Amino acid sequence: MENEIKIIGLIADDAKNFAGLLGKVKITSHKVKDAKRIKDKIKKVSKGDKSILSQDDLDRWYSGMVDNTRIVCSISSSFNAGTMDVSPLINAWNNYVAFVNSLPDTIEYPNTPANQQKVQVIRQKEVEIKNCFNNGDDTVYNNFARELGTFERNGIELENSRNAFENSPSSTNNITRIQNAMQALLNQNNHLGQFSLVTSPRTTAIFQRHSDLITRFQKVYFTDEIDRLRQEYITYNYVVPKRSEFVNSVSGSSYSFAELNFGEYGYALLNSRMIAGLEAIKTSLGNKIAVTSCFRNPKKQASLPGGSSISQHCYGTAVDLRTSNNQTLWNRVAKATCEAGANYVEPQAQSTLDHVHGDWRGTSVGTSYCNTTFAAKDGEMFEEI
Ligand SMILES: [Zn+2]
Repeated sequence: MENEIKIIGLIADDAKNFAGLLGKVKITSHKVKDAKRIKDKIKKVSKGDKSILSQDDLDRWYSGMVDNTRIVCSISSSFNAGTMDVSPLINAWNNYVAFVNSLPDTIEYPNTPANQQKVQVIRQKEVEIKNCFNNGDDTVYNNFARELGTFERNGIELENSRNAFENSPSSTNNITRIQNAMQALLNQNNHLGQFSLVTSPRTTAIFQRHSDLITRFQKVYFTDEIDRLRQEYITYNYVVPKRSEFVNSVSGSSYSFAELNFGEYGYALLNSRMIAGLEAIKTSLGNKIAVTSCFRNPKKQASLPGGSSISQHCYGTAVDLRTSNNQTLWNRVAKATCEAGANYVEPQAQSTLDHVHGDWRGTSVGTSYCNTTFAAKDGEMFEEI
């Protein structure tokens, strides 16, 4: 499964910040008072001529319905694909509700053709104002739904960039791609956070969808120490080790992790052949030789004076053993390193008398000190000591 996210559950040093950012987003929502009450009130309009004083109420109702409908419909029609805030529409609607509530519960009016016409208009406006409100509400809701779709695509790119970095790291499938995807997701999330919608079952559902997507993408967004370490292998043109190859402890060694990690991270590569070779050297010599360098991250390697661009130290297969400018000691350590199966022991001309470099790179190296006649000779000298 190429799209499977394999690293869910890792603790990231900056994951908490991201979770905090996403968690802070609150989508404002409004509850619109039930329109049914207004409709019921309109139903109560009855014909009659018991009191001519009610003519004022009918006229007020009539003009109020015309005015409020015009305002609500005007706001609604001003909404466009960029509108994020439904509040002006809600305010106009609430004014309309307050107006209707200010009317007497029952209005009896003189039964004249002109009044019947007004009642007809009131009923039409009641339908019209609801439609206008719903249209405006739909516009803002659909805008949110569209932007949420973008948010989901941003998150999928984040997942894809993470998988690509894990499974096929390259100059394009790198940590920058993950960080760019993360930034796009954060920006879009902030954009979503500015929306104001009307509370309803559909907004409850779409907020839940947003929340579910956040939960999903939070699991993959982060970049951690191992990511930054692996990125160095891309940057410095090394073969990129798998995430699982990095360790932060060592077992089966007389040396502690701290004694073997000369990198700038809390993780290192410590090849098992190298660890076994180091133990064999210790057994052979009868004591622990100080390690002057072992694992180095590519950036540190590049910063060393005269450090070769590609070093076995960056793969955790190489170790440097202190020989303190002592020729006899150098010979002993070099011989023991050869006997411990090192693929390459650096000739003294390169390593100097300061240390013996041995590595277990997995393939034999013709120029290894072990292949010279000096090795056997040094060994004999050592036997005589
Ligand atoms: Zn070395």
